[in-house]
Amino acid sequence: MQIFEKITAHLENRPTELKRLKEKGRKVIGYFPGDYVPEEIIYASGAIPVCLCHGGNPRPVGAALSVTTRFICPFARALIGDRLIGEQPFYNLVDMLVTPVTCQHLRRAADIWQHHSGLPVFRLGVPMENNEQGLKYYRDRLNDLNNKLQVFTGQAVTDESLWKAIELYNTLRSLLKRISLLRKNSAPAISTIDFIKLNHASFYADPVFMVDILSSLIKELEQSVNKDEKGDNLRLLITGPNIAFGDYKVLEIANELGAQVVAEEFFEGVRYYWGNVEQAGSPVEALANRYLANKVPNGVMPAAASGRYDFIAGLVKDFKVDGIIWYQLLFCETYDIESYYFAHKMKQLGIPVLKIQSDYDVLDRGSIKTRMEAFVEMLNKERSSD
Ligand code: SF4
Repeated sequence: MQIFEKITAHLENRPTELKRLKEKGRKVIGYFPGDYVPEEIIYASGAIPVCLCHGGNPRPVGAALSVTTRFICPFARALIGDRLIGEQPFYNLVDMLVTPVTCQHLRRAADIWQHHSGLPVFRLGVPMENNEQGLKYYRDRLNDLNNKLQVFTGQAVTDESLWKAIELYNTLRSLLKRISLLRKNSAPAISTIDFIKLNHASFYADPVFMVDILSSLIKELEQSVNKDEKGDNLRLLITGPNIAFGDYKVLEIANELGAQVVAEEFFEGVRYYWGNVEQAGSPVEALANRYLANKVPNGVMPAAASGRYDFIAGLVKDFKVDGIIWYQLLFCETYDIESYYFAHKMKQLGIPVLKIQSDYDVLDRGSIKTRMEAFVEMLNKERSSD
């Protein structure tokens, strides 16, 4: 599809474009994913937000072992290794890093970035409770980030520039949501691997370009969708802590097995596009509400589980899902513990779950495929006996 070629070309040229903008005095602010760092604040300060979300490649994961222990999840190790190796152009262009303080692995990755690069690092505290006190704390931290960025870029952030940035990112999220919902159709107009690639591209691309390209894509997809066409492939949902840019192994295997992944729910690595910033009140307050109070909580928050289980159960119903793949990374202890309770809850709802764990190792492809094959076979049998 021509639109995907345009996105690929844009991403290939983007590092050169960022270098040119840096020469003119613009700053590149890298941040770790998890949907707690509002790009709107970075954009409004005149800087360029870049979400660092590459993963799936064993080389940087191995390289990180020269400076850290093995018992850190492969995504956090990839963040470290990619910066150490220096082959990932976006990572080399970062002037300042913002990390949400969620799990210890991300935090350690930020510590190592700071130690080895000497870059300034802003640690954005994320409260473990989504209550009034937690919201106040998070709002204060967003104000601190706002102040820090203004000093760093030398550009004042006004309410007007923040609202403009909010409008831009609201549009971007809304377009992704419209595209996502097209997968409810029994013959989806877009595959989940392509949808996730759009999501990943949106973290590195110029957001104005991305809004333009997604607007064109949605027109094409809405015209091509045939609501009467009956797809008979098995429908899967994939969930877990993280799916990184380049970590497409499980999605590719599902395709090879003739199953369709039709929905995803992840904490990190993809953009959370279900909720927008309400354009009322003060912009920082509106951002705090969107990024903390009014969204599905992630697994690092105690007492978060039931809200997320309900959300995922809703997706299963809406997207007519036959089974769930729980995809987690080795040493991600928070989600490993949660996987037990998640599977238990889904069992109560009659939804089969397969747990897959990855260390970004090329050698595990065969064993993952064997387990997924057995799962798909079981679901197909269940379907034909209904
Ligand atoms: S995958 Fe798990 S351990 Fe790794 S950064 Fe995400 S939440 Fe932390």
